[in-house]
Amino acid sequence: MLLGPPGAGKGTQAKELAGRLGIPAVSTGDIFRANVADGTPLGKQAQEFMDRGDYVPDSVTNAMVRDRLAEPDCAGGFLLDGYPRTPAQVAELDAMLAERGQHVEQVLEIVAPADEVVRRLLLRAVEQGRSDDTEEVIRRRLEVYAEQTAPLAAAYRERGVLTQVDGIGTVEEVAERMIGAVRGQAS
Ligand code: ADP
Repeated sequence: MLLGPPGAGKGTQAKELAGRLGIPAVSTGDIFRANVADGTPLGKQAQEFMDRGDYVPDSVTNAMVRDRLAEPDCAGGFLLDGYPRTPAQVAELDAMLAERGQHVEQVLEIVAPADEVVRRLLLRAVEQGRSDDTEEVIRRRLEVYAEQTAPLAAAYRERGVLTQVDGIGTVEEVAERMIGAVRGQAS
């Protein structure tokens, strides 16, 4: 699982790491955006929350993740990016995994200072035109992260599964640190 604030590089690193580990990356933000783009009922439910920088309600998100994890490619393990983000999602994930005889093996927290993540998100706004990358919505997303998601790191640290990774550097440098952290834990 990847943890870290918006702009820390979770999505980029999730693709890289999942490729190297040979497991699927399950990125809830990507799944929501694809549903918004396709105009599905799920996309219609999620869009208003995303546009404000708020979290999509737990019930909606949990149901979506449950469906995704039921796909055959997730049977042997997967990398979560952007989920869980609330204590209720942590509890639901634990329940889903227990049903499958699985558990959270490792949590990588990508650490990056607030001024750096804001800089990256504003740059991405120009490059990709994501509708939630405006200054006001970025501020809200960081606030929601600090309130609701940052405390999750402490919970996983207590379980002994948390590794912090410095998110400053090139994509390749951070990817090397991430894979090093995974190997370090596996040995
Ligand atoms: P960010 O870089 O802001 O973390 P994501 O692409 O991961 O971006 O998520 C974009 C938006 O999708 C979030 O701001 C939120 O509205 C919604 N979202 C993604 N994952 C979750 C989740 N686990 N719970 C609730 N909402 C989510």
